[in-house]
Amino acid sequence: MERDTRQRRAIRAALERADRPLSPKEVLGASRRRIRTLGLATVYRTLNALVADGWLVEVQLPGEPPRYEVAGKKHHHHFVCDRCHRVFEVDACPGDMVSMVPKDFEVTRHEIVLYGACAGCSARSAALRP
Ligand SMILES: [Zn+2]
Ligand SMILES: [Zn+2]
Repeated sequence: MERDTRQRRAIRAALERADRPLSPKEVLGASRRRIRTLGLATVYRTLNALVADGWLVEVQLPGEPPRYEVAGKKHHHHFVCDRCHRVFEVDACPGDMVSMVPKDFEVTRHEIVLYGACAGCSARSAALRP
């Protein structure tokens, strides 16, 4: 039980520190600095428990394995880096987009996913250019 609490605390800290949606493997990498014995099965179990508690939400992006982010954030969108496959938060939103749908249609929600290269990856490729 005590061990469980410690692992859970380390996993929560990793998700809070990242401030972007993390995959279970990323959670493992970030939490292992604190708890070396942590395994992927424990990470999955803890992520599921945190989702059940309402502390964490699953981020489902088309064709991507699920990522997890701290619940209760204000409306935002996501950016997927095609190179390092990390997912970032995008705070901007173009609005309700009601004008895009046919007359008499009702928009209740929207998801926007942007793709490209993150700052780290685009700097790396700029440095490689002759
Ligand atoms: Zn990247
Ligand atoms: Zn939006």
